[in-house]
Amino acid sequence: MARHTDPVCKLCRREGEKLFLKGERCFSPKCAIERRNYPPGLHGKGAEWRRSRESDFGKQLRAKQKARRVYGIYERQFRRYFREALKSRSLTGLTMLQMLESRLDNVIYRMGFASSRAQARQLVNHGHFTVNGRRTDVPSMLVKEGDIIEIREGSRARSFFKELPDFAKGRNAPDWIERDVNKLTGTVKRLPERAEIDANLNEQLVVEFYSR
Ligand code: SF4
Repeated sequence: MARHTDPVCKLCRREGEKLFLKGERCFSPKCAIERRNYPPGLHGKGAEWRRSRESDFGKQLRAKQKARRVYGIYERQFRRYFREALKSRSLTGLTMLQMLESRLDNVIYRMGFASSRAQARQLVNHGHFTVNGRRTDVPSMLVKEGDIIEIREGSRARSFFKELPDFAKGRNAPDWIERDVNKLTGTVKRLPERAEIDANLNEQLVVEFYSR
């Protein structure tokens, strides 16, 4: 699967805000946004002022890029979510966000079973999770209401998963997911409502970007 290999902190610096792509580091003083909150590159500091003077297109592009980077998805797949959302009868932007939130890697991150979506993706890639009792290694799988996500039996003996309950207890899960931290299982109760999704994402601008 394609994945981003450049330093991800650059992506936060480009967007001018924390996108929380690196787990614990994002909450520490080592975070690049804490230390160098200006765009990366030779003219980074000089380009900072341009953020406030962006055209409508620039704002739409940045909103799209930010959402794509938060969920760690490449352009082609991201556009596919938009096309799928467009076919639905519900609000396109909200439907798109709900699809992104329903990705298995995101749900595992939301359950508090991984420190970042990137880590959740890697855990899924390595086959450590089951959905409704079936092993899956597809991070982009869209889970639905009633789906049960568990750590695969054969993976539970690993030290990472033995320590995971303690880690997960320090993280809140959203109301649309019910989890049992000690058993390391989670159930999708329903789709998230807009208020339960990152308020910093502007789905309307994303829809405008793809509707040009
Ligand atoms: Fe972004 Fe986290 Fe890097 Fe900070 S540490 S710049 S929030 S990825």
